[in-house]
Amino acid sequence: MTLPHSDTTVLFPDGTVSADAVVLLVQPLPDGRVGVVLDRTPFHPIDLAWPDQGPDRGVLVAGDDEWPVLDVLIGATDGQDLTVGDGMPVRPGTEGWTFVVVHVTPSDTELAEGRTVRAAVDTDLRTALSVGHTACHLASLALDHALAGAWSKPVPTDDLGAPAFDRLAVDRSVIRRYGSEDTYRVGKSLRKQGFDPSSLDDTEVLAARVEATLRDWIATGAPVRIEREDQGLTGRRTWVCALPDGEARIPCGGTHVASLAELGPIAVRFATEPQKGGLGLTMTTRVTPEPSN
Ligand SMILES: [Zn+2]
Repeated sequence: MTLPHSDTTVLFPDGTVSADAVVLLVQPLPDGRVGVVLDRTPFHPIDLAWPDQGPDRGVLVAGDDEWPVLDVLIGATDGQDLTVGDGMPVRPGTEGWTFVVVHVTPSDTELAEGRTVRAAVDTDLRTALSVGHTACHLASLALDHALAGAWSKPVPTDDLGAPAFDRLAVDRSVIRRYGSEDTYRVGKSLRKQGFDPSSLDDTEVLAARVEATLRDWIATGAPVRIEREDQGLTGRRTWVCALPDGEARIPCGGTHVASLAELGPIAVRFATEPQKGGLGLTMTTRVTPEPSN
């Protein structure tokens, strides 16, 4: 057994859902299942550092045999052994380490290293998550825009020129099928930066403003792309979309649709709750799955 010495080539940022690949490593995992490392893969793994978009599902096919991919994790090796998922001793990108996509398959998986397999992602789930992820980024920018008047002091702005509420206040982001849920912390530090929490008093008006912006943006049918510095798993990747007020660029490890024309209307809903020192805000984003083509 030779451990991989270069990061897995990842194909999912370009929207790829199926590819032939060579098995580099087959390793039993602590839970009894089997971890399969390929030289290249269309499978999107969960990133435990910022686990917003969950892993793909799908199959590995070798001749007449087919194994379900039950989970997709990131593994790290320094040449000695491979640690997977939660147990990783270093952050992805750490120098001297190799980072690979680990396809988790059932305990009875029989795959030989060196064998070529077809790696095929469940396209229904992928489409649903890509739609949800693109909608998540758009909604965060539309929220910045809707809250632009709530600031009394100059603060860092997003790429479209609005005060960066999302970047400054976001606590957690979860991508769902055809939607997302973002939670924000509106506390002392945000108030000190000049944010007026009373701008969140009428969440229905806020939702209507966000939805109106989203309608305008989706109507442009603007292309969406992932820019990346290299093809490796840990290369820096950026979501890019040219919107009417400017080109938006957001660091992102997930998958997306290729164009805003693939999104149906987006509905957003807000909920607030008292938190220690301030207010918690949740934005739930939901896309009507209604492709325009
Ligand atoms: Zn993202």
